[in-house]
Amino acid sequence: MSAFELKSPEQIVAMRAAGLLTGQILLALEERAAPGVTTLELDQLAREMIDQAGAESSFLGYDGGYGLPPFPAVTCISVNEQVVHGIPDGRVLQAGDLVSIDFGVSLNGWHGDSARTICVAGAPQARLDLSEATRQAMWDGIAAVGVGRTIGDIGHAVQTSIRAHRPRYGIVREFTGHGIGSQMHMAPDVPNAGWPRRGPRILDGMVLAIEPITTAGSPKTATMDDEWTVVTADGGDAAHWEHTVAVTKRGLWVLTAPDGGEAELLARGAKFAPLA
Ligand code: MG
Ligand code: MG
Repeated sequence: MSAFELKSPEQIVAMRAAGLLTGQILLALEERAAPGVTTLELDQLAREMIDQAGAESSFLGYDGGYGLPPFPAVTCISVNEQVVHGIPDGRVLQAGDLVSIDFGVSLNGWHGDSARTICVAGAPQARLDLSEATRQAMWDGIAAVGVGRTIGDIGHAVQTSIRAHRPRYGIVREFTGHGIGSQMHMAPDVPNAGWPRRGPRILDGMVLAIEPITTAGSPKTATMDDEWTVVTADGGDAAHWEHTVAVTKRGLWVLTAPDGGEAELLARGAKFAPLA
């Protein structure tokens, strides 16, 4: 028996429903994010959409797996120097803000997990660049996934992508991608740096969340008194992108991407293999 939860094709199809819903709600939040909107209003929209779909939040009440205060929202919204795990509140988005939204739902017992960094209208080029480099690194990491490859191959691809384009960006190491399925966070961890051909072998039926987290300056972070919100130690900007990816012998299916990842996978020479 594998140490990892391997999914049958039928289970991957069920996970696509959870992933697609996750991706669709996240895009609706991106459309709503604008100057004058509060992060709590975005969270409220996500709650309504979860309820309408008959799904459940993967985040609400989550204790981090080790007894943190139960997370009080269905989204993590992290603005500017906030890196991850920001708690939605009355903060009003401003023109030019860099807003990372991390979001996940479970549907029929299967989880989806996805994040994107949004540049609110008027953001300076440096913020657009940080988000875009992180998005590209996520896709380069996803394209390195395949049966017979290793978890280290993924981290190496993410790291190489960032270093090739923006050598001075930081890669946050305290947080990693992860296996996902009947729970949001499962083995294996998927670090955003690594050595080729090292780490656990990637197996047919694995589903992985790939999620680079980068900083404009130092990758050092600190956690606020709420025990959740992570900020950069130097006050610089951070970005975070994430998709949930199913692996089969035939190729990849990006469950949280509306197009299943087809465009970005084909652009990188990776095999796009939807099961439905
Ligand atoms: Mg996430
Ligand atoms: Mg995740």
